[in-house]
Amino acid sequence: MSVLSSPHFHDEAKAFEYLESIVWADGVVCPHCGVVGGRVYDLSGVRTKASAKNPEGKVRHGLKKCGECRKQFTAKVGTVFEHARLPLTKMLQAVHLMVSSKKGISAHQLSRVLEVQYKSAWFLAHRIREAMRSGDLATPFGSGGGAVEVDETYIGAKSDYAGNRRGYGHKHAVLALVDRESGQSRWFHIENSRAKDIHPIVRANISREARLMTDEATMYRRIGKEFAEHGTTVHAAFNYVSREDRTIHTNTVEGAFSIFKRGMRGVYQHCAEHHLHRYLAEFEFRYNTRTANGVDDRQRAAIAVQGIVGKRLTYEGPRANA
Ligand SMILES: [Zn+2]
Repeated sequence: MSVLSSPHFHDEAKAFEYLESIVWADGVVCPHCGVVGGRVYDLSGVRTKASAKNPEGKVRHGLKKCGECRKQFTAKVGTVFEHARLPLTKMLQAVHLMVSSKKGISAHQLSRVLEVQYKSAWFLAHRIREAMRSGDLATPFGSGGGAVEVDETYIGAKSDYAGNRRGYGHKHAVLALVDRESGQSRWFHIENSRAKDIHPIVRANISREARLMTDEATMYRRIGKEFAEHGTTVHAAFNYVSREDRTIHTNTVEGAFSIFKRGMRGVYQHCAEHHLHRYLAEFEFRYNTRTANGVDDRQRAAIAVQGIVGKRLTYEGPRANA
């Protein structure tokens, strides 16, 4: 037995049972009329129309009928999986592969492992990234006076950049915030690392009572005064810890960046800028649900599946360089 021998990875009916147990944990919700815990009938044995490929039609797994509005639905309706054509077993395998690979998995590799077309694998991976996207920006980091580390990093290269390629101007800038007490992080794609790119995010996401930890870059100097305390580290000195106060450092956020950079370099070599926020959502998700935060692979997969609800995807397909 292994994690991958779980029935929901191999049996379509079991896959629907697994999905239902997560998305309807608080009772079945009809996606058409919105009734919760109403009369719902199982429509077992219903098949799709006959086709050349399936002369007898295919079994429609997980099909339900709402007793209130009389309409049919499955647990996939209204989720990022709704219009995906792949079997649910393969989609759940993909979720598991993405949440359990520390640096991520490329669409090419996903396509080989699942034995599906590259384009299907690419779309599926983006659906799962959408599920991983956190909507929780409610509680500011550092509430209660905890330390919050803030740092920025640079990856890839802007395809349309015409200027000087020295320095960071031609790269994509990423800002990350780590709340040291809760072990949670928030990641942002920023236009540049100027005060006007960084300050609004810092103000909106960090409590004024927090101890702000940054490097000594000038754009943090002024905003640092708005917080209860501002500890600064020597720029670009990884593993720097202040001698006067051992809690002044940005090593946590730099550690998160090192996983992110290895993943982006090794697995997602050519990430188009307009998709970067989706990859950030993926790394943020895995970081926030990492083993050190007490979450195992199975739980992480279930958390990702919870996130499929209430999100939809609308965008064009893969580009040549995506
Ligand atoms: Zn209904």
